[in-house]
Amino acid sequence: MLKLVFDVLSKIKRRKGKTIKLCPICLSPKLKPASSISGWLIHESYKCLNCGYEGVIYIEVSLEEAEKILNELKKQKEKLENQ
Ligand SMILES: [Zn+2]
Repeated sequence: MLKLVFDVLSKIKRRKGKTIKLCPICLSPKLKPASSISGWLIHESYKCLNCGYEGVIYIEVSLEEAEKILNELKKQKEKLENQ
């Protein structure tokens, strides 16, 4: 699965525009800023509502690219399931 994610991400080219944050573990767009009790902390962390991941690392892509990634993953998954 990790190799699959890497393959998909290697196809991404950075572009300007509206972006979306994706979970680095499951690529879910359900990433929310984790509320920090101590407001002076500089590092902003994010929490994935899908797999429970929490951390400062996230994947930022444009909305268009996010759609492509999700479609690609869906295709790859279907391929694997049909083997
Ligand atoms: Zn996740």
